[in-house]
Amino acid sequence: MSKLIFEVIIMNQKPILVTRSSMPPLEEYTNEIKSIWDTAWLTNIGKFHKQLEQDLIKYLGVDNISLFTNGHMALELLIQAMNLTGEVITTPFTFASTTHSIVRNGLTPVFCDINSDDYTMDVTKIEKLITDKTTAILPVHVYGHICNINEIKRIASKYDLKVIYDAAHTFGEKVNGQGIGRFGDATMFSFHATKVYNTIEGGAITFSNENIGKQLYKLKNFGIESQEMVDGVGSNAKMNEFQAVMGICNLRHITEEISKRKTVVERYRSWLSNINGIKIMYDKENIQSNYAYFPVVFDEKVFGFSRNEVCDKLKENNIFARKYFYPLTNTFDCYHGKFNVNKTPTAQHIAKRVLTLPLYADLSLEDVDRICDIILKL
Ligand SMILES: *Cc1c(COP(=O)(O)O)cnc(C)c1O
Repeated sequence: MSKLIFEVIIMNQKPILVTRSSMPPLEEYTNEIKSIWDTAWLTNIGKFHKQLEQDLIKYLGVDNISLFTNGHMALELLIQAMNLTGEVITTPFTFASTTHSIVRNGLTPVFCDINSDDYTMDVTKIEKLITDKTTAILPVHVYGHICNINEIKRIASKYDLKVIYDAAHTFGEKVNGQGIGRFGDATMFSFHATKVYNTIEGGAITFSNENIGKQLYKLKNFGIESQEMVDGVGSNAKMNEFQAVMGICNLRHITEEISKRKTVVERYRSWLSNINGIKIMYDKENIQSNYAYFPVVFDEKVFGFSRNEVCDKLKENNIFARKYFYPLTNTFDCYHGKFNVNKTPTAQHIAKRVLTLPLYADLSLEDVDRICDIILKL
């Protein structure tokens, strides 16, 4: 075998993971952190933390923001800050964090089914789930698909419920020009390494009521009101300065990152549109998308191969797609016997058939071609 051919084969075998973290140029990051060596101010709401808050308020088009060490703690402490009780209506078609954040607050998640169009909460099924114990609705803009915000708002005001959005997948998205963080009582964003935008680990809450902001600040800092008064049983969930600098740098490149993702998504669409038994998603007119994920639903009876078979075939080729979101959170082992998955049949149906294909800004179009070729030649 000639050396060249050998090298080409090796290159082709480099694994392709479902995502790859966005990073700024190394010098950009090291230049920014230099001043930390003068101040020795590493955390506790420092200069970079404050700067990132301002940068994000502008970019996300929101009025208020509170930064956290990760998205999950942001959500968990937000629920605590809102003093919710009893039951929270939510979706099982999500990452573990959404459901755990409710349960870890001593509340009961009540699972609403999803719709089969965009996999967000089926708003026609919410009202039947409301009881005298319901205090909030916690939907997820899953894969970056925006929930039916208007209908959720109508139901929430009719029954006097709070609305918290899990927008972990929705960084920077806009609806009719409005930042996605402006809807509901509050919205959680995740800045985890695997998300469209990252601060290594990190997260934020955007909110309208400044009282929530005060509560959040205390809860992420041990419930400390002042140096000599601690009047809340708080946690510790502050974002540190190194995370904040990563966020400041990554934000400078976000427009380009999202436009590269768009190119990848369009390439996938050019291959996988109008294939019998394959369902993919398209842009919506009034929504500025961030191209966070590329979920594909395989109908085995029509396509001829199941989601699991496609996933395994890709794996044989060193390509690691992920079964997001399978299993549903209401079937997790830690919740065994607590919830009836038959009450969310559409979520169950989609979870068994969906596969999210690799997608990140630097995924090459040749790799997209190869992935689609493997799928279509099964
Ligand atoms: C990533 C994610 C979270 C949690 O975010 P972290 O920053 O990883 O703690 C919450 N909800 C959903 C839907 C997510 O995908």
